[in-house]
Amino acid sequence: MIQLYIPLNFLGVIYREIKQSLTDLDKMFVLLEREREVRDVPDAQPLAGADSTVRFEDVSFAYEPARPILKHVSFEIPAGKTVAVVGPSGSGKSTLARLMYRFYDVQEGRITIGGEDIRAVQQSSVRRAIGIVPQDTVLFNDTVEYNIAYGRPGATREEVEGAARAARIHDFIVATPKGYETTVGERGLKLSGGEKQRVAIARTLLKNPPIVIFDEATSALDSANERAIQSELRSAAQGKTTLVIAHRLSTVVEAHEILVLESGVIVERGTHAELLAKQGRYAQMWALQKSEAVPLL
Ligand code: ADP
Ligand code: MG
Repeated sequence: MIQLYIPLNFLGVIYREIKQSLTDLDKMFVLLEREREVRDVPDAQPLAGADSTVRFEDVSFAYEPARPILKHVSFEIPAGKTVAVVGPSGSGKSTLARLMYRFYDVQEGRITIGGEDIRAVQQSSVRRAIGIVPQDTVLFNDTVEYNIAYGRPGATREEVEGAARAARIHDFIVATPKGYETTVGERGLKLSGGEKQRVAIARTLLKNPPIVIFDEATSALDSANERAIQSELRSAAQGKTTLVIAHRLSTVVEAHEILVLESGVIVERGTHAELLAKQGRYAQMWALQKSEAVPLL
């Protein structure tokens, strides 16, 4: 009985180990898959980066040829300004963010940073220029410190702590069993959606890139937490060329331009005041959100 029990238990341990490694491998393949989506052209140079203006010029994109996702999308984020994107779930908002970060290359049109087509330069240099706070942050199975410092390898503990304080996650971190040495992620301390997003904000603050993208979390945050995080997002965007995919209209009021995206098409665009005056889709969403206090997406 005992002899049988021990090997089985042992197998259980091995099984769990293997399963865990496979999960990590799966993730790695997902990442590699993404890497393979784009290739640098021979002799690609780094982005010159003199100017952080971002332009989408008549961009069309499909993950699968039969199903176009973005259709002739054009807009500009002047250096230091914020452009906001709103629209229903599945309309292609996160796809805009992924294309800007060059997870994929566009099939028609082009995306430029400082006038340079991002397909013509080293993808690593594009990614260095951009900080992204994604909709759903995946943390590495490593320490909190590693996860924040990933934004800028070689950052000192003081710098990491400074970023964590600014993202208002420091107090939470020091209250965990090993503070900054606490392992987080699937095999460590599991963080809530809001905590993960704060780690991602700290990472971005530390990286201090000229361009930032916020794909605001939807289901991950309750509304109190979401309101609380707005000010951190705002400080991370200060003076940066920013694309914000907005969940709540309150975050887009001050944007240089607001784009309303539906089925991959920009159906309305303008400032908050202009769009309200137009009494179209945006004005409808605004009225609905005001009366019902419901999220947009
Ligand atoms: P949003 O952020 O506005 O909710 P997304 O940009 O995430 O929308 O997705 C737009 C559409 O593209 C959706 O229909 C989604 O199912 C599809 N899509 C997203 N990612 C992929 C992918 N990797 N492969 C195929 N289709 C995808
Ligand atoms: Mg999305």
